[in-house]
Amino acid sequence: MTLGDPAPPHAPATPAPVRGDGPGLLAAIAEREPSIRILVDPGARESHRRDETAWLETGLPLAVAEPATTAQVAALVRLCAEFGVPIVPRGAGTGLSGGSAGIEGALTISFMRMARVLEIDHANLTVTTQPGIVNADLKAAVAAEGLFYAPDPASYETCTIGGNLGTNAGGLCCVKYGVTRDAVLGLEIVTAAGTVVRLGGKNIKDVAGYALIPLIVGSQGTLALVTEATLRLRVAPPPHTTLLAFFPTIDAAGEAVAAMTMGGLVPVTLELMDRITVRAVDDVHHLGLDRDAAAMLLVESDLPGAAGIAEIEQADVACQTAGASMTMRAADAVEADWLRAGRRLAYRALEEMGVARMEDIGVPRSRIPDMLRAIELIAANHRVTIGTFGHAGDGNLHPTFVLDRNEPEAAGLERIMGAKAALYEAALAFGGTVTGEHGIGASRQAWLHRQRGEDAMAMMRAVKGALDPANLLNPGRVLG
Ligand SMILES: Cc1cc2nc3c(=O)[nH]c(=O)nc-3n(C[C@H](O)[C@H](O)[C@H](O)COP(=O)(O)OP(=O)(O)OC[C@H]3O[C@@H](n4cnc5c(N)ncnc54)[C@H](O)[C@@H]3O)c2cc1C
Repeated sequence: MTLGDPAPPHAPATPAPVRGDGPGLLAAIAEREPSIRILVDPGARESHRRDETAWLETGLPLAVAEPATTAQVAALVRLCAEFGVPIVPRGAGTGLSGGSAGIEGALTISFMRMARVLEIDHANLTVTTQPGIVNADLKAAVAAEGLFYAPDPASYETCTIGGNLGTNAGGLCCVKYGVTRDAVLGLEIVTAAGTVVRLGGKNIKDVAGYALIPLIVGSQGTLALVTEATLRLRVAPPPHTTLLAFFPTIDAAGEAVAAMTMGGLVPVTLELMDRITVRAVDDVHHLGLDRDAAAMLLVESDLPGAAGIAEIEQADVACQTAGASMTMRAADAVEADWLRAGRRLAYRALEEMGVARMEDIGVPRSRIPDMLRAIELIAANHRVTIGTFGHAGDGNLHPTFVLDRNEPEAAGLERIMGAKAALYEAALAFGGTVTGEHGIGASRQAWLHRQRGEDAMAMMRAVKGALDPANLLNPGRVLG
């Protein structure tokens, strides 16, 4: 069993045997599509075995294809269909649910060579891009023209837009601007039959037919391959006004988040770190954080001038009313950048303490105090260290297990299995979700059924069956 499925209510299927005629596929690609770059050496295949997900049973890809054009992607899909070889689409491999991890004998299609910005359209505030571009590079390209692409996973300096579309990635400013799905106006996809289809375009309003774009976004490469995306931009906002608030109890921080939500505040960032995370970040980055606080909130406004100051003032009042022990403003933009970077690097800081394993649960925002209390209890009951940080503004928390490097792995795993199950149970009990942004992938399938129920699962299976009847696209992921 993989660690991703603690005490599964519905056990995952055993790994499927290698499917299709791999050698036949490679010979056919060499003969019919010789311009497509194919990596077959063991090192390249091995480096595409895993993504960033821990403790996952993965497979060794047959080969790694690096297409440069949509036509090459479509040709690859048609050949895979002909030879019955499954496909794993892959961006940068930073995923945390095993969505782009290798499947034994499958062809991994890496989009890293398809990384061009195709058009920046000022009149419509859109950018059209290939999927392999790194999120930060896309942001930089549009920023050079005074524009802003909002979705910003903490991994934005390494993850790709294709991966973000695959997982429907969230991030630090999604509380105000929404997740990746909210930024997508148009897609070019390659279907499981190898057909190139365009969905949407540049229209802000478009309700013609079923909404296929939101279905594809977040489907983790199981319904189609994305070869181009038209994304929504904004005019670049002014520099942020930044508030830090420290709390004597985690409860008080949760109450502050709930109060801001209830008060209708929509800051661009509303992030939480608990004491363990604050100390880990401070140890690495020496930001002068209050190491004795039980929790810290980072609140940012990107409203201009006086409006930004007023928004942060309201956030400050909410924090103080909830019992903050200290609140302070960033002195300038440089300090604000440091603080934001510290939060982005929270996971890496926890990794300095031991073996860190990030979880990804979500709850309705009013239940954040309950969830934070439950995490503390679970850590105590299961004798595990959990550092919690996350996008508190959207109710999305990343409780992160930190294991002692000297502890035998098996002993640590056993305790974490129980704690993970308790975490998921608690999130579901509060009306939440077992994944806010990382996806089901290959690591939480047992819990998907539990969360959604049989009727919704049947609908999802019907969609998969209709769009990918031969089960070629990332088989076994999401639905199991
Ligand atoms: C330190 C750290 C911090 C992180 N912070 C965040 C965060 O704040 N928010 C967040 O949401 N995630 C976060 N993540 C998780 C991860 O970065 C995201 O899930 C990201 O979207 C993955 O992008 P990628 O390019 O690495 O894609 P991959 O991991 O390679 O793939 C992700 C999924 O997308 C599919 N896919 C990739 N390209 C395509 C394509 N062209 N067409 C169809 N399917 C495709 C893959 O099959 C897979 O299922 C973090 C990860 C790390 C390691």
